[in-house]
Amino acid sequence: LGNNSYQIYTPTMKGEHENEFKLESDLRRALIQNELFVEFQPRVDVITNEIVSAEALVRWEHPEGGRIPPGLFIPLAEQSGLVSDIGEWVLNHVCEQLKTWIKDGSHLVVPISVNLSAQTFMRRNWERTLCSLLDQNQIPPHLIEFEITESTIIKNEEIMSEALAYLHEKGIKVALDDFGTGFSSLSYLKKFEIDTLKIDKSFIQGIQNKKDIAIIRCIIQLAKELNIRVVGEGIETEEHLTMLKELECDEIQGFYLSKPVKHEQFRELLRKRVL
Ligand code: C2E
Ligand code: CA
Ligand code: CA
Repeated sequence: LGNNSYQIYTPTMKGEHENEFKLESDLRRALIQNELFVEFQPRVDVITNEIVSAEALVRWEHPEGGRIPPGLFIPLAEQSGLVSDIGEWVLNHVCEQLKTWIKDGSHLVVPISVNLSAQTFMRRNWERTLCSLLDQNQIPPHLIEFEITESTIIKNEEIMSEALAYLHEKGIKVALDDFGTGFSSLSYLKKFEIDTLKIDKSFIQGIQNKKDIAIIRCIIQLAKELNIRVVGEGIETEEHLTMLKELECDEIQGFYLSKPVKHEQFRELLRKRVL
């Protein structure tokens, strides 16, 4: 590199970067060529066990590489600026899905949550783009919730404050995802229009630990007093479920109830209504 500095270069590094580059261009193609699809994971009322909503999770079936987990390609999409396009693709897909469900009868429709990245809200006219997807499919706003993280708020508090006020005004709900893991600031709950808190699965997973229980209890109580719905994520066992019931969490989501499933299967679950 000159100037008495150097950088170590290894063949594996080259490999990694090439792979990343290939994945990135593959992801661009995936968006156009229908390699992405969406799975739905139910959210269940703790008291009645009824499915009250679901989270839409994006999936990528790579023609050569098979299933690539979102934990891998979403960060890549963030780096390459593709993540807003993915968000819009998912929202569009969800709206189209909801439209056909509404046509089939309102008893088989629940609100769907869509994950959005910070980059979406930095786009010019993001409001018009997102709302036109709802309008085109005549989706009532209360059937959509956006999941954002604390780090999205922290990136630009001013823009996000306006964005969340706008969504609130429109009647679109907002959930704060992975709550407790980011730069949690309790003042966010006061300053911003938040409808739902999703307690991060790391706390649920640590439920044998007194400290984790204390944190969960505290988040639930706080949410109740602020009139915010609270969801426990990553429910994997009966024990997790019992604990969250005792702590009076409103809703739960996790493999113990159902994995994320394709839309046909999700409709089957909705027909049964209760998990
Ligand atoms: P997330 O938003 O926190 O989504 C929940 C993740 O937890 C999902 O992983 C889900 O399959 C997983 N999960 C659900 N129940 C359990 C459980 O009982 N135990 C455990 N260990 N995990 C459980 P997934 O689908 O692999 O997604 C990973 C992350 O990728 C998501 O975390 C989200 O940050 C991101 N992601 C997924 N879909 C989208 C999308 O459409 N847009 C954006 N921007 N990000 C997405
Ligand atoms: Ca989420
Ligand atoms: Ca989460």
